[in-house]
Amino acid sequence: MTIQFRVDLHTHTNCSDGSLTPEQLLHEAKKVGLSGLSITDHDCIDAYTEKTIALSKELGLLLLPGMEISSRHRQHDVHILGYGFDLHSKSLSSFLEVIQKRREERNAQILQKLCSRKMPISIEELDRFAKQGMSKKVIGRPHIAYLMIEKGYVGSMQEAFNFYLKDNGLCYVPGVKFNPIEIIGAIHLAGGKAILAHPHFINSQRTVRELLEMPFDGIECYYAKLPSDQEKKWLEIAEQKNWIATGGSDFHGDAKPYIPLGCSWVGEETYSRLVS
Ligand code: AMP
Ligand code: ZN
Ligand code: FE
Ligand code: FE
Repeated sequence: MTIQFRVDLHTHTNCSDGSLTPEQLLHEAKKVGLSGLSITDHDCIDAYTEKTIALSKELGLLLLPGMEISSRHRQHDVHILGYGFDLHSKSLSSFLEVIQKRREERNAQILQKLCSRKMPISIEELDRFAKQGMSKKVIGRPHIAYLMIEKGYVGSMQEAFNFYLKDNGLCYVPGVKFNPIEIIGAIHLAGGKAILAHPHFINSQRTVRELLEMPFDGIECYYAKLPSDQEKKWLEIAEQKNWIATGGSDFHGDAKPYIPLGCSWVGEETYSRLVS
């Protein structure tokens, strides 16, 4: 029996807002029969430790360096996936450090807004809660949402986002973000490919049109459980531009329990374009 080549190119671990450790994620990937994966944590590459890389080899899984960086264009959050870059790039690590600083400032501003609505959370409390014994971690809105539930301010994650944290919600703060061109440049400088992530989430045609004029190498056409008629639009664009059509689940573990690992993936041809 030939086992089909399947690589899930969009996954998160507890180095950002996923629930599994990188090691647990690799074991899960093996269990569901994937040939490999890319770990694309938000704004960090901390999952790519020697231990993780060694385990991927031991399990016979491909592990493509990846990350998902948040950028901003015309009031819209635009996520950009980077693949196949040099994990030891100095320019990339300084760039990610700046992003991390800005994230911390933004989190503090969100907490201020929550405090003014009688939902106080201190920075230390958020840090302690989100990290739970880890020394490093990219903290974002999902961690704030969890803590809001734990403190009894809201009943669910959806309530936290729908009222307060969603884009343009009552306590939303966009934060200072790099624009897409800057992110693409940083990925290219580190030797990687830059991919426009889940474009169907961007609800402005003009923004999408402008993004499609930028020097991306590809576009995420297969995403989570997106129906195939919706994939088609992005596949046609990729083909027309000779861009790489990527795909992945956006697996977050318990943080998004309805999305199973490997529910979107790419085959060998696409994978080889990303590593070339
Ligand atoms: P941040 O990186 O801090 O802007 O947080 C982004 C993350 O928040 C995304 O990766 C999602 O996992 C989560 N998120 C964003 N919007 C929503 C929403 N409306 N409901 C639930 N989770 C959301
Ligand atoms: Zn996330
Ligand atoms: Fe995303
Ligand atoms: Fe993601």
